[in-house]
Amino acid sequence: MASFKLLLLPGDGIGTEVMDEVTRLIEWANGTGAISIETETDLIGGCAYDEHGEAISEAAMQTAHAADAVMLGAVGGPKWDGVPYDKRPEAGLLRLRKDLQLFANLRPAICYPALAEASSLKRELVEGLDIMIVRELTGGVYFGEPKEITDLGNGQKRAVDTQVYETYEIERIAAVAFDLARKRGNLVHSAEKRNVMKTGVLWNEVVTKVHKDSYSDVKLEHILADNCAMQLVRAPKQFDVIVTDNLFGDVLSDEAAMATGSLGMLPSASLGAADENGMRPAMYEPVHGSAPDIAGQGKANPIATIASFAMCLRYSFDQGELADKIEAAIANVLDQGLRTGDIAQKGCKTVGTREMGDAIIASL
Ligand code: ATP
Ligand code: MG
Repeated sequence: MASFKLLLLPGDGIGTEVMDEVTRLIEWANGTGAISIETETDLIGGCAYDEHGEAISEAAMQTAHAADAVMLGAVGGPKWDGVPYDKRPEAGLLRLRKDLQLFANLRPAICYPALAEASSLKRELVEGLDIMIVRELTGGVYFGEPKEITDLGNGQKRAVDTQVYETYEIERIAAVAFDLARKRGNLVHSAEKRNVMKTGVLWNEVVTKVHKDSYSDVKLEHILADNCAMQLVRAPKQFDVIVTDNLFGDVLSDEAAMATGSLGMLPSASLGAADENGMRPAMYEPVHGSAPDIAGQGKANPIATIASFAMCLRYSFDQGELADKIEAAIANVLDQGLRTGDIAQKGCKTVGTREMGDAIIASL
């Protein structure tokens, strides 16, 4: 039986509440006999700052490096607003991303049939929607130098951000997208702006070459990022995997998210480079934050974090069948009419975090 080490970092706010439900799903997964998951739990974010004076301790970083995967809840809250910049809760997250070199951010947009009404788009456009956006996470305009604001002296200022991409960065993110497409609908859209950006020209060239050299069995379409944004609201079901840079990926993944109804439903994964055994450093987390407004009240929606655990089973632990079962259980409890407050619906029963977890486990 395959055995894996998983580091749990519940973090702050509702992070701890939603992670409690994942802990129960880990027990379920271990109980199936298909896998053995050994967990360790540590602090990240505001709670780590309170305890250690840092948003993540060196010991927790070492555990993260040694683990096969990391599951994160959420970090931050008003309590830590005055904390020094390099020690703020988000610094823990950024440190993990940087040290584990998590360059590929996977954001699925799945529309469960029972929630199609909650989408900002028409039911027929989103029912059964299943898109994967693959966003480059460690390069591009958010990190390129120079990055500065210069005072020009005459009441005018000049702000500069720089978009930089090198071949190897595009090659590795393209490979992640093609690998995923092979396990899904076998279609990749590569989104850039080659008509106005040099990085777009290189992006297009490198993705084309990676496709030709190693993935010619997958269908590849090139699309301008602005057209991609339009098509995502016009006819989102035409997409399977979309691969794009850091900036466009930030925008397009939030746009696609709205097609699914709620922030409380969306999982994510961030992956690094594969080692000789094909294992990638990986972190799984819900898209939502620590939700200070509802923290401690037991009403957070645990589905995004549970779905993130399903992604962990599929991508890090090679347990696609267990992941499918968890996703089917989520769809099932939604069909039964159970809803947390964020997805509350007329004629449905509003439940808390624990009851939602109970129902998913009962369905399993
Ligand atoms: P961050 O800066 O960490 O992204 P944020 O303030 O942008 O945080 P969230 O913390 O995700 O965003 O909260 C945004 C809103 O969505 C809040 O009103 C919050 O209560 C709600 N929300 C977020 N996640 C959930 C959840 N899992 N269940 C229910 N409501 C949620
Ligand atoms: Mg936010």
